[in-house]
Amino acid sequence: MADNKYTLEQDHQLVESLDQLFEQQKSAFRQQPYPSAEQRIQSLKKLKAAMLAYQDELVSALNSDFGCRSADDSKMGDFMPTLMAIDYSIAHIKKWMKPSKRSVGVLFQPAKAYVMYQPLGVIGIITPWNYPLYLSIGPLATALAAGNTAMIKMSEFTPATNEVLAKMLSENFDSSQVAILGGGPKVAAHFSTKAFDHLLFTGSTRVGKLVMAAAAQNLTPVTLELGGKSPTIIDEQIDMKDAVSRFILGKTLNAGQTCVAPDYILCPSNRIDELKSAVAHWFNKMYPSVENNQDYTAIINDAQLSRLKAWLDDATEKGASVTTLGSDSLASCITSGKLPLTLLTDVNMDMTVMQEEIFGPLLPIVSYETVEQAIDYINDRDRPLALYVCSQDSQFQQRILEHTHAGGVCINDAAMHVAQDDLPFGGVGPSGMGHYHGPEGFKTFSKAKPVFAKGKFNSATMAFPPYGKLIHKLIYKFFIK
Ligand code: NAD
Repeated sequence: MADNKYTLEQDHQLVESLDQLFEQQKSAFRQQPYPSAEQRIQSLKKLKAAMLAYQDELVSALNSDFGCRSADDSKMGDFMPTLMAIDYSIAHIKKWMKPSKRSVGVLFQPAKAYVMYQPLGVIGIITPWNYPLYLSIGPLATALAAGNTAMIKMSEFTPATNEVLAKMLSENFDSSQVAILGGGPKVAAHFSTKAFDHLLFTGSTRVGKLVMAAAAQNLTPVTLELGGKSPTIIDEQIDMKDAVSRFILGKTLNAGQTCVAPDYILCPSNRIDELKSAVAHWFNKMYPSVENNQDYTAIINDAQLSRLKAWLDDATEKGASVTTLGSDSLASCITSGKLPLTLLTDVNMDMTVMQEEIFGPLLPIVSYETVEQAIDYINDRDRPLALYVCSQDSQFQQRILEHTHAGGVCINDAAMHVAQDDLPFGGVGPSGMGHYHGPEGFKTFSKAKPVFAKGKFNSATMAFPPYGKLIHKLIYKFFIK
């Protein structure tokens, strides 16, 4: 299990090297402010080859950071989406870089108008611990596709992964193009004070506020990829086993330590028992045991495990009914650093688990009588990062889409919208601001520079003073009406 292993002395050194790296990247960018499409594609191909070469080392480093990180969770949740994101960027760079033609008003002819997508400069990327590959190399790929240099601050809780990534990147990129740092929150806080040309932060809403405040000092634009309580709503009609099969992997992948994992389920009150047995059916099938099962990821460290255990105790004390799934006892799982999927019913708002983002394998079930009630429940709370609808009724689906807000939605699935490279990804309100992924990601890391270009003939002279000429009268007749 990984706790913060960075000493104060290391943090001090990292802060110094961070300052130097930032200056180096700024000057490197000035030397090469507009890499060609070919150069960008080369960088991305190099990145992909490096990832493939380091696949085994990365999977094993992730395992060491988590205590037990299922190799398949690492491949499916970290490795594969990163490679897919790189391939997606490679395929689209030329199209994205093309200037976008715009129309010119009649009065300003002859001329051209277009938007040029220009690299911004030095991009800062701050990464959380839960998917350390996808959430560092993913944004890096988009930043490079847009022609920038980038500095990445990794989480202090993934030291083994950070080390392998640092080796992999330094073998393939000069640190003036791509730099990566570990270090504790002090290094992270210092990182966010640098005058990046754009800062992408992935992490908690609490730290997101600190990052935005620090970035504001430089008017550094931020994309904040935060968390929140993502609901899953089940309708009256859907076959329950089918419904559960749509969201269960989204909850059990990485043992629920996923920003877009279903946080709680909204279930018609007369279907709660059906839901509980369907979840138990799938969980027991997927994970016949938890404790010694290499397919089931551990909770990353003691602090996170204690937090989840305390929230479970708090809910139990306040009257929740707790159903721990799987064949092992809760106590023996906890000893091995794991927490099985645990259902909570009879929950209320006094319980911490109903107030804070869970970020682990606890799953409260909230009952509702009418769709309006379920919609109100969602709208009475912070706008979530994701929302999932389990329903085959298109009117029900549309009603939820139109009456609620969320960073992204899956209908009859969970979490997989994140892996659709062509869709933008980002939260709304307290779950984040701005987007990356898709063409939106390229635009996030580019300046959309409007250019108005005139050629040899300058029509403007006709309207020069002295005013009161026929041309002025005509212009006013046609354009002020
Ligand atoms: P965190 O906010 O504690 O830490 C994230 C990063 O911020 C780490 O690298 C940390 O070193 C750094 N940091 C700490 N203090 C800082 C400061 N004062 N200034 C700048 N940076 C600072 O989050 P975490 O515990 O690593 O990750 C869990 C959270 O991340 C959850 O809320 C989860 O929902 C969210 N998350 C969101 C997404 C997304 O794409 N929206 C993805 C994964 C995780």
